[in-house]
Amino acid sequence: MLSQVVELIEKKDRFAITSHIRPDGDSLGSSLGLYWLLRALEKDVEIIMHDAAPHAYRKLPGADAIRVTPAVDRAYDAVFVIECSDIDRPGLTDLEKQFVVNIDHHSTTELFGAVNWIDPTASAVGEMIYNLCKATGVRVTKEIAECVYTALLTDTGSFHYSNTTERTFKIASELIRTGVKPAKTAEAIFGSYRWPKIELLGQVLATARRDETGHVAWMRQTLEMQEQTHASDEDADGFVNYPLAVGEVEAAALFKEYSAGVYRTSLRSKGDVNVAKIAEKFGGGGHRNAAGCTLKGSWDEIEQQVVPLLQDAVKRANGLKDITEDALLTEGSKQ
Ligand code: 5GP
Ligand code: MN
Repeated sequence: MLSQVVELIEKKDRFAITSHIRPDGDSLGSSLGLYWLLRALEKDVEIIMHDAAPHAYRKLPGADAIRVTPAVDRAYDAVFVIECSDIDRPGLTDLEKQFVVNIDHHSTTELFGAVNWIDPTASAVGEMIYNLCKATGVRVTKEIAECVYTALLTDTGSFHYSNTTERTFKIASELIRTGVKPAKTAEAIFGSYRWPKIELLGQVLATARRDETGHVAWMRQTLEMQEQTHASDEDADGFVNYPLAVGEVEAAALFKEYSAGVYRTSLRSKGDVNVAKIAEKFGGGGHRNAAGCTLKGSWDEIEQQVVPLLQDAVKRANGLKDITEDALLTEGSKQ
């Protein structure tokens, strides 16, 4: 709960902050926002992560202070774990030996912390960090504003997704008043790609396929493509959204070969189509419309496993719609 987090911050002094492997805009923006909040309270704090910040986020205030490490190798009064579904997501050994504070906005997260503050109504954990500023009386500085805005912008898909609420815009508005320049921040994240990303995108888009209904589309990225184009691991970020931009596509997948026979899978959907359930089946997780997991096996096996599940998810969502429409029609005919 928020009140427990506030109390803990008041009482303790030496903190670490961590988040999931391959950090993204929300995990970095929220971790850095919390870092600046704790610094404002003159606490001893550092950010430790398994992976370095992707290129697009290196200019975030404080990003250069992130210590990359595979283990929690120092003693802290408490470790904040940001945006993680379980204690293994940060990829840090010995984390379980610490006093863990779990801060997340996924409703499916495990309550693995000694303190758990979960708010599924928050569009991003960044929104929760903003609330924490208010609760601790910390002024939202330019640094905090920049970090929290980045979290909101990225986790709402540039204010496209259904997690975007009036509250998101209210907070964003205050952050802009504090000095955030929306165009500048957006350009730093979405307009600073390297050329290999374009070449890789060309190859990945060439693999796009859809099923006979046209509602499910999927693409594949191989290690060979990545080597040929000299693309980095993060260059494929966002590719999965391309097929989803087609009107009738309701669920999309990108299968990205990570090592031989291992595919990092990104799932995206529209409306009621739930891809988080599919990711969870394979030990991953996420939100209804954006989720991920790791799959092992041959390419054929993986395709045959996941595509039917995406088709089922679309059918189930459309079935629900039909039932509601039928019910409405029946209602209407009664009058
Ligand atoms: P992406 O496709 O961008 O890697 O992930 C989309 C979302 O799915 C992330 O924001 C995160 O919430 C979730 N996600 C991705 N991979 C995993 C995973 O391996 N485990 C869990 N629990 N969630 C994941
Ligand atoms: Mn998030």
